[in-house]
Amino acid sequence: MEKTVAFQKNARNIFFHILTRCNLRCKHCYVNPKEHGKETLQARTIQWWLKELAHSRKKTNLIFIGGEPTLHPKLPSLIRAARKAGYSSITVDTNGFFFNQILEKVSPNELDYFSVGLDGSCKEVNDRIRGKGSYDKCVSGIETALKKGFKTSLIYTVSRWNINDLKNMPNLLKTMGIDRLFIQVVGIRGRSAQGSGDNLQLTRKQWGSRVPRIAARAAQMGIHVIYPKVFLNRAEPFECAGLVAENYFIFPNGRVYQCPVCEDFPLHSFAFKKGKLIEQPPINEKDLFQLSIPEGCVMNKLIQPGNLDYDKHGKPKYKIACCLLKEELKP
Ligand code: SF4
Ligand code: SF4
Repeated sequence: MEKTVAFQKNARNIFFHILTRCNLRCKHCYVNPKEHGKETLQARTIQWWLKELAHSRKKTNLIFIGGEPTLHPKLPSLIRAARKAGYSSITVDTNGFFFNQILEKVSPNELDYFSVGLDGSCKEVNDRIRGKGSYDKCVSGIETALKKGFKTSLIYTVSRWNINDLKNMPNLLKTMGIDRLFIQVVGIRGRSAQGSGDNLQLTRKQWGSRVPRIAARAAQMGIHVIYPKVFLNRAEPFECAGLVAENYFIFPNGRVYQCPVCEDFPLHSFAFKKGKLIEQPPINEKDLFQLSIPEGCVMNKLIQPGNLDYDKHGKPKYKIACCLLKEELKP
């Protein structure tokens, strides 16, 4: 059954980039070391910030992310520290190389999910985007994780390079025994904003004619699917998560954003200074969240307008939803 997941008013999501370093060079990578720093945060600092961001009353989900978070040698102890600090769920978003013997050093009951990025059902599609050899390495990593009893989901970032292959993913997941699929839409930031950015973006037709149908088929096969709404009809209500939800995207240089689309700019609404989370003075992303435009998301119009379309009167034919608004299909 399909439903749009309303922004959860009482849930908080913390996306903690503990480093920006990665062994891969994916073509759509959104990490931008110039804006996000190049350092690997010390475990002590991460633990301190985790305590600052924990909440005693609100359910808080933590996602360790990078770069490649398993390159951080202290990730196992950080997972334990997060559990102790009261985080309700802990996920590690990884490219599936599983460095530092992470699969040996944590147990399945210490972690809610490994979410693994794979952008094709075969080497030809995936490796063109994520690099030679990455498909084999990632699939073998997932198989090992599943054998060891870790809950494992898959993240597929859809762009013009791999939209035709999305239809093959439900079968691959079924064969591998993965029961949760996140479909993401490519964002024009980080590496994809440098150079051929617009060539990756999907039109409303490309997205609408394939993604919901393939997601529905996957759900019928027993897979839990989550994908972004992306396009809204003119009559559908628009909400900016920055105003109605609590999401924090933390980077090694101490910047804390509430909107991932703002991450290429020094527009963060908070920053860690001497271990404390400090509000940033205007102008920052919070000032943009307040703006109301007929195209929907203001940041989308500013930095990735290639997905907009107008009628002959100059009115937008549809709106772009907040990138954090998701559709969910449960089997
Ligand atoms: S998208 Fe993820 S796996 Fe790919 S280069 Fe960027 S951080 Fe690494
Ligand atoms: S993506 Fe757009 S709508 Fe969503 S939080 Fe950012 S600015 Fe707001």
